Amino acid sequence: MNHCCINCFQDEWMIDHIKTKGEQIDECSFCGAEDVMAIELTEFKSLVTPVINLYTAITNFYPMEILKEQDNSENMIWDKLTHDWGIFDDPSVGESILSSIYEDDPRDGTFYDFMNDAVDIEDDWYEEFSTKANLWSDFCYEIRHVNRFAPKTFANEIIDKIIEANQIAVEVGTILYRARTQQENKPYTTNKMGPPPPKDAVFGRLNPQGIAYLYLSDNPETCVSEIRPDTTSEVSIGTFKIVRECRFVELTSEYIGSPFKWGKSFPMIYRYKNFLNEFGKDISKPINPKSSYLDYLPTQFVSEYIKQKGYDGIVFKSSSGSGLNYTLFNHKMAKCIDVRFTTEIKANYSFKLKTDDVI
Ligand SMILES: [Zn+2]
Repeated sequence: MNHCCINCFQDEWMIDHIKTKGEQIDECSFCGAEDVMAIELTEFKSLVTPVINLYTAITNFYPMEILKEQDNSENMIWDKLTHDWGIFDDPSVGESILSSIYEDDPRDGTFYDFMNDAVDIEDDWYEEFSTKANLWSDFCYEIRHVNRFAPKTFANEIIDKIIEANQIAVEVGTILYRARTQQENKPYTTNKMGPPPPKDAVFGRLNPQGIAYLYLSDNPETCVSEIRPDTTSEVSIGTFKIVRECRFVELTSEYIGSPFKWGKSFPMIYRYKNFLNEFGKDISKPINPKSSYLDYLPTQFVSEYIKQKGYDGIVFKSSSGSGLNYTLFNHKMAKCIDVRFTTEIKANYSFKLKTDDVI
C-alpha cells in the first residue's frame, strides 16, 4: 500500500503530475483501479502537506459552545480537501490515503490531531467572526500612518506570484467604453474622451494625484453608472478599441486553482489571496467626495506596484453596474473610435441613446 493513482484524484494538476512523473501499477490499493499510473505515497505526502498546513483542528480554536452545538462529522481533513479544493475524487478514498500517510507519524511528539478532529482554516474563521485585524487592514494602517513608501506589511514575493497567476491578455481590437458628463447637446469629440492631462488628474481609487489612468468598462451601462450622473445629465459615451496587446491583472474572482502548483508557499498564498480580494473590493467602492487622500493611499500603492511589475492595467468588478472595469495605466494602449450620447437617464442609470449618429 505505497502508491496512489490518477483515479484517486480529481485535481487536474495532481493527475497531470502522476501521468508525467508516476509509474504504472497493477492495482491501486486505495481506489481499486487496475493498470494505472501512480506515485509513491511519500511523494504525495510532501505535495499535500502544505495544503494540510492551512488547517487546524477546531478543538484548538472554536469556542466551547460552538464545538458542542455544531455537527462537524463531515468536516474532517479529507472532507475539506475534497470539498474546498477538489483534491480527492471521493472523501473516503482521501481518508484511506491520509490514514496511511499520517497514522503513527508523530508531529511534535503527538499524533496528528487533524486525523482525529474536524478541521477548519483558523485565519478565515477569525476574519469572519472576530474583529482581529487582517493583512489588508494592517497594511492600510501602516501605509496611512506609519510607513508611506516602503511598507513592511506588503509581501512582494507572495503578491508577485498571485498577480502573475491572475494575469489575462486583452487582445488588439477589444472594445471598451468610457463615459463623461457633457453639456446639453454638446457631446465630446473622440480626442476629448481620454483621461485628463497629468497636471489636472485628481486622485482616484487607483491613480495618485497628478498621474492619469484611463478608466474603461466592458459595456456602456457600466461606464455610465460608474460616473453616477443625475437624471438631468447628458453623458458622452466613447467607444475605445485596444490598439496594443495588453496584460491585465484580473481581480474579479478568488482564483487560486490547484493548491499543489504553489508548493510550500501555498498557506501564504492563501492568506494573501484574501489581501488581494480586499484590495479588489476597495477599488470597486464608489469615490466618496468627502474622503481624504489618505483613504486611497493603500489602493494606489498596490496599483502602482502592479504597474511597476510591467502589467498594463487592472480588471475589477463594478460595484454600480453589472460589468467589469478596466483601468489602463497608459492611455495610449486604447484609442477612442466614436462617441454617442445619452438622454433620459433613469435613477438606475439606464438610458436611451440620443443619436444613432456617431461623433
Ligand atoms: Zn487509486
